[in-house]
Parts: sequence; structure tokens; C-alpha cells
Amino acid sequence: MTDPVTSTSLRTDLDTGGLDDPLVIGVLALQGDVREHVRAVTGEGVSALPVRRPAELDAVDALVIPGGESTTMSNLAIAFGLLEPLRRRIAAGMPAYGSCAGMIMLAGTVLDGRADQQTFGGIDMVVRRNAFGRQVDSFESTVEFAGIDGGPFHAVFIRAPWVESVGPRVEVLARVAGGPADGRIVAVRQGNLLATAFHPELTGDLRVHRHFVQMARAARAARPH
Ligand code: GLN
Repeated sequence: MTDPVTSTSLRTDLDTGGLDDPLVIGVLALQGDVREHVRAVTGEGVSALPVRRPAELDAVDALVIPGGESTTMSNLAIAFGLLEPLRRRIAAGMPAYGSCAGMIMLAGTVLDGRADQQTFGGIDMVVRRNAFGRQVDSFESTVEFAGIDGGPFHAVFIRAPWVESVGPRVEVLARVAGGPADGRIVAVRQGNLLATAFHPELTGDLRVHRHFVQMARAARAARPH
């Protein structure tokens, strides 16, 4: 999950059919499933750019924040000088999608985190790290996702967080159905920010990425020129 990637090796450019200004979706490339997310958004007709430096962040319209380990991601974001630039972009309305540790990075408040762990924030929610318990490090389940057609999702959870509580501006999009975690919130949206506790990049079901690309397109269309 943590092998280094170079920006040039992963950058994907598309034939944009004559459009000279394609949407550029960044994938935060500090650690995690960077390649899988790059592949998933590239399938949606955008240009994908791994982001590790502030200048790369400046070049993207929207950002995917992969899973991994949120404590490590926090350290690396500080080391790469990305913490404050990312907080600023997110606060200014850049669309972002966080999966698993990426969900934690978008949370206002983290429970069971390391004391000095930082987040980018943006979603008014409290998340609990490793919430599903040590015995069930990973599990798979079926979840209904509000606003995404095509039937329930096969959701893969890996040492996943859940959302303990949300503020009034947060839309709850999916909950666990059945089992000991019945009813726990595992997908949310607030404005241009989307987060899932599970990993859609691992299942080949691209509907969450497609949904996020649509959010990013709508956000760009609404931006003053
Ligand atoms: N347990 C990890 C964390 O706390 C998240 C796991 C994941 O992203 N698959 O950051």
C-alpha cells in the first residue's frame, strides 16, 4: 500500500475530444491505493494527477484522498508541506472525496486517534478510527447508497472508521445494514466533500468515483469565470 509512486509515471492524460480544458482530478499520493484511484477516475473521462507537492495541488480541480493510515498521512502531509495548502483549498470549496483514512482526513473531529494527529477537515462530523473492532479488521457488506442508482454496493471495509455523529449540514448517504454495527454511518456528503468508510476502488464498481466526478464537474461549472 505504501510503495512510492512518481507523479510522471502515474499521470494520465486523455484525448479530450478537442476540449482544451479537461477536468483534472488529483489523487493525494502520500500513501495508499493511489494507482487504483487514478485508474478509477481516469475511466470517467478526466485527467488524473498524483499530488504530493503544493504546486501539484494548485494544478487540480478536485482531489481524491485514498485510504492508508491517517496518522501516517497526517505526518506525511506535514512533511510535504501540504497540510495548510490542503486545508485552505478544502475550505475554499475544492471538491474532495476521501475513502477510509481519507474519510478520517476530512473529519472535523477524530476519536481514537493519536493525540497529535491532524486532519484537513471540512466535514462537520465525528469519526471513530478502527471502529469496527480488532476482531473484524476487514469485512465486506452490502450497503444502499443514497443518490447512486444501480442497486446496493458491495462495500469492502479495512480497519475502517465509522461516522459517530454528523452536524446539520451533513447528508448521510449510507449506513451499515445488519450485524453488530447495524445503522452505523459509512458514507456522507457535505457540499463538495464526499467520504466513504469503505474502498470502492478495490471492487471495480466505479459508481462512487463517477458520482464524485459529477460533483467536481458541477462545482467547476458553478465557479465564476
Ligand atoms: N485504520 C486506518 C486509519 O486509522 C484506516 C484504514 C484504511 O484506510 N483502510 O487511518
